Amino acid sequence: MAERPRVAFVGTGVMGAAMAGHLLAAGYPLVVFNRTREKAEALLAHGAQWAESPGEAASRAEVTITMVGYPADVEEVYLGVGGIVERAPEGALLIDMTTSTPTLAVRIAEAASARGLLTLDAPVSGGDVGARNATLTIMAGGAGAAFERAMPLFEAMGNTFTHAGGPGAGQHTKMANQIGIAGAMLGLIEALQYAKAAGLDLERTHAALSGGGANSWSWGAYGPRILSADFAPGFFVKHFVKDLRIALDESRALGLDLPGLTLAEELYARLQEADGAELGTQALWLLYERGEQAGGVS
Ligand code: NAP
Repeated sequence: MAERPRVAFVGTGVMGAAMAGHLLAAGYPLVVFNRTREKAEALLAHGAQWAESPGEAASRAEVTITMVGYPADVEEVYLGVGGIVERAPEGALLIDMTTSTPTLAVRIAEAASARGLLTLDAPVSGGDVGARNATLTIMAGGAGAAFERAMPLFEAMGNTFTHAGGPGAGQHTKMANQIGIAGAMLGLIEALQYAKAAGLDLERTHAALSGGGANSWSWGAYGPRILSADFAPGFFVKHFVKDLRIALDESRALGLDLPGLTLAEELYARLQEADGAELGTQALWLLYERGEQAGGVS
């Protein structure tokens, strides 16, 4: 096996643990950090080394990958005192795979470039299943040379890769994806709500429409979870609300009015406030079951 560069992986939650596991299995020496150490234990048991901070992990690697939660987490791990940008060795490649803001991606790229570091913003789509099966779609912004260097790592974690443009273009591509998913989730839930109200068998309706024009990735991934009353994440409601708000902010900055996106943000924010933050996005079903989708949408 050709020698692999040492990789630092920061953020080993639902997505990151599976993604880092694929890198380990592909033979990359791995150093990991996560806020809660216990979520990295399985990787440590398979030979990954532990670091005491994001900056320390980065200082020990040629490539650093981050998969944390929110833009504030991304800012802290990269730009904080003793963080990744400060401590990564010259020439290192830094890849943020968190869904974050295009603006922050540009700020990190500028700070990193001043220190002789390469960056990519490379968020993903494909859900927890895509992370587990290494079938993620990866959309990257940054220099072409950084993308080429990252490709072998991306190939261990996904199966569809796009170099979308310069810094921030990966996050913009991901926002377009989230706007599409917002519509797909409303479509899934309202189609099944209609079928239920009409007295149809939900399993048969879902199966029938899986071969029809209403089918989508969300239909296939989340429909069966709704039918078996499995509302665990998957993809956290709190993270989808974060994404929808970034997409709304970016749309407004572009002078765009997107009423479908606005509606999805209102409904998911309502679900989040009704103790839904830690559930998976398919739990929007519960809001409709309780009749709480009705009224008050501006
Ligand atoms: P998650 O399970 O909450 O994982 C995030 C991990 O990052 C957690 O383990 C968290 O630590 C760690 N973390 C957060 N801030 C940190 C910091 N400052 N230093 C070190 N570690 C830190 O969420 P996820 O589902 O994997 O999602 C991660 C990102 O991918 C999010 O931006 C999400 O929007 C995006 N995404 C998710 C999916 C999906 O289907 N799940 C799909 C595509 C994209 P703790 O363990 O202490 O909480």
